[in-house]
Amino acid sequence: MALNLAMFGPPGAGKGTQARRLATERGIPQVSTGDILREAVQGGTELGRQVKAIMDAGELVGYDVMLGIVRERLSKADASGGFILDGFPRTVAQATALDDILEGRQGLVVLEIAVGDETLVNRLSRRRVCGNCGAIVGDTNGEAQLLCPTCGGELSQRSDDREDVVRGRLEVYHRETAPLVEFYQGRASFRTVDGDQTPEVVAQAVQAALSAVNGAAA
Ligand code: AMP
Repeated sequence: MALNLAMFGPPGAGKGTQARRLATERGIPQVSTGDILREAVQGGTELGRQVKAIMDAGELVGYDVMLGIVRERLSKADASGGFILDGFPRTVAQATALDDILEGRQGLVVLEIAVGDETLVNRLSRRRVCGNCGAIVGDTNGEAQLLCPTCGGELSQRSDDREDVVRGRLEVYHRETAPLVEFYQGRASFRTVDGDQTPEVVAQAVQAALSAVNGAAA
């Protein structure tokens, strides 16, 4: 059965790690809006120029731009058999629009990955990303120069993972994204997973949540 999944959670909750893992397991694309935007910034495209300052400040990119990106990405052939949205929707307006985009497709499953603020600030200050394979390395103790344990590529800190920016991103999350819990609460296909555990244990909890949703739908 096709899995159409949206994951949301505060910055550093582990959405990317879990989405990537699940996408590989299921053979469906991980659609990370943050990654799409970062690629545009790195590639120096018109979109990248538009969004760079907003992203560096930890603010949200505008509704129309985001909708255009997601609509186009989900219409591609590889997403027809399922997808994992990572980082979208991030506002109630985006969630409403997503329902419209998906009309006529298999029902949407939504997972919230919940983690407390102080854990996140601590996690993000130590998080590094591989410039070569994109792996997220979480246990670096904040050292500046390290190599990726997966491919040997150089690790670096995302410009929006500095503590002051992280605190701002958390504020944006509580104001703009946390209301999604209320928006989705009444749906049988909505589940919350405790993200304050090791990635392996969170992955098991994600699988359990997906089975529970399937069971409820059967
Ligand atoms: P992420 O990698 O998901 O933490 O996203 C990094 C940054 O990209 C965010 O801080 C926003 O500036 C932007 N972004 C990603 N997804 C969205 C979205 N759904 N709506 C608005 N801005 C987004």
